[in-house]
Amino acid sequence: MLIVQKFGGTSVGDLERIQNVAHRVAAAKKAGNDVVIVVSAMSGETNKLVGFAEHFSKNPARAEMDMLLSSGERVTAALLSIALQEMGFDAEAMTGRKAGIVTDKHHTKARIEVINPKSMQNALKEGKIVVVAGFQGVNENGDVTTLGRGGSDLSAVAIAGALQADLCEIYTDVTGIFTTDPRIEPKAKKLQKISYDEMLELASLGAKVLQNRSVELAKKLNVNLVTRSSFCDEEGTLITKEENIMEKPLVSGIALDRNQARISLMGVKDRPGIASDIFNALADAEVNVDMIIQNKAVDDTTNIDFTVPVGDLHDAKVVVDTFVKSGEIKDDSYNEDICKVSVVGVGMKSHAGVAAKAFSTMAKENININMISTSEIKVSMVIDEKYAELAVRSLHNTYELDK
Ligand code: ADP
Ligand code: ASP
Ligand code: MG
Repeated sequence: MLIVQKFGGTSVGDLERIQNVAHRVAAAKKAGNDVVIVVSAMSGETNKLVGFAEHFSKNPARAEMDMLLSSGERVTAALLSIALQEMGFDAEAMTGRKAGIVTDKHHTKARIEVINPKSMQNALKEGKIVVVAGFQGVNENGDVTTLGRGGSDLSAVAIAGALQADLCEIYTDVTGIFTTDPRIEPKAKKLQKISYDEMLELASLGAKVLQNRSVELAKKLNVNLVTRSSFCDEEGTLITKEENIMEKPLVSGIALDRNQARISLMGVKDRPGIASDIFNALADAEVNVDMIIQNKAVDDTTNIDFTVPVGDLHDAKVVVDTFVKSGEIKDDSYNEDICKVSVVGVGMKSHAGVAAKAFSTMAKENININMISTSEIKVSMVIDEKYAELAVRSLHNTYELDK
């Protein structure tokens, strides 16, 4: 078999853990498999580097950030390769560039365009264990790029797709995908299987256990994806096609996203094309807009509220400022003390009342809902951040996910 194994930050958090990872990799190799390893930076390392940059600038150039942040993964790849060599294995550490990962030009959130797997394939042919630095690629100008936070998951899935691996294992610090973050609700239950679509919703809605783009790609390329713990041998969770899952619960999980901010635009000129102008300008600035609410116009002006990831807030403010200056928006305000809780499940497609139950749960806890959005398989609510954990636990209880 050809197996891609990805080890996240906690799993390579110190030298002893890297040694443990080396033992796990060695076992997979000794069992007769070809193995490609993708590693994250040691836990806390990426945040530390971000902090270093922020010491000098509130808004550092994205290209320099990529130079900086990509270094964390290179350290781990080199160390793991050295550890494996010391154990008598032939291993080769590769940067994203050497692994042939070509991305678009969007620094700090680049998309993978193509993978030229020749170097990896040649090394595998020579019997080597390939150890790739995750989270990074190179654009057509030869500049290093990174794939967004949590992007080593994407590196692993993309490499598994390019090499047509039989299996892609994501090793992390929990034993699989749970009905909600087990650190918030200890009663959360591990799922044996979950569909790509549900996992994609959970990941997009804040469950950082897998990066959302990695799930999207796994679905597209039909990669056999398993999430499991690097600290024990317990079986993990298989992320697979919906038709492979016999039992379809109404609700599969609750997600929490604390990284959202709400932007309120007051006194917005009510003319055809205004929403198009504002949101196109935000899209051009690569701001990821999520929920949008526009109120009924009074006296030719209206209010528009929307949410963005906290990391996009600075860029969003710059765009909004241009409309305030031109007089098309009278006033703007920003609130970072909010969060988004979401209920996800494919079973919702065919059942009414899931959303109503979520609203009743908030009512019972006396939590005010600021914004709501729904899709076929999810209900999301924006609430004050101070109620985040209470909301997650209450919803988990309402849908009896601990049963
Ligand atoms: P890694 O460093 O291995 O990439 P992450 O910290 O990115 O790991 O993701 C793992 C974390 O995701 C867990 O420690 C857990 O707190 C969190 N998490 C959030 N939602 C879930 C969920 N539904 N199931 C499992 N873990 C979850
Ligand atoms: N080190 C990067 C991050 O923290 C990428 C990853 O761990 O997947 O976002
Ligand atoms: Mg991660």
